[in-house]
Amino acid sequence: MDNCLFCKIIKGDIPSTKVYEDEFCFAFRDINPQAPTHILVVPREHVASIAEAGEKLSPEALHALISAIGKIAAQEGLNNGFRVVSNCGPDACQSVLHLHFHILGGRQMADQMA
Ligand code: AMP
Ligand code: ZN
Repeated sequence: MDNCLFCKIIKGDIPSTKVYEDEFCFAFRDINPQAPTHILVVPREHVASIAEAGEKLSPEALHALISAIGKIAAQEGLNNGFRVVSNCGPDACQSVLHLHFHILGGRQMADQMA
């Protein structure tokens, strides 16, 4: 999608710190990290949020996204655990309307999620 920040990052039109890529996914470091490790995992295909991912992404792409999260966590040495968040819509303060999973780790997370 032309006017999407994460589509531009995937294409390389906007620079990012890539940590992983495969046929279906791209992952890069968040520009404003909320934890020692903060990575965004996105599908190459533009979908706005997790609300429409099940309908619009292929089973292969959905599987690749979940697999990528585990591979990246291992690659980053998050052996003591990590948190995965996908903000969806205004109530969750989603700011970029291209589905993304935040991987947060490297410190003890708050007991309360929100
Ligand atoms: P969300 O608020 O869940 O939509 O998350 C969007 C995330 O994208 C935020 O954590 C931002 O810090 C991050 N972000 C925005 N622009 C960039 C960028 N150019 N490179 C990497 N991360 C970004
Ligand atoms: Zn996009």
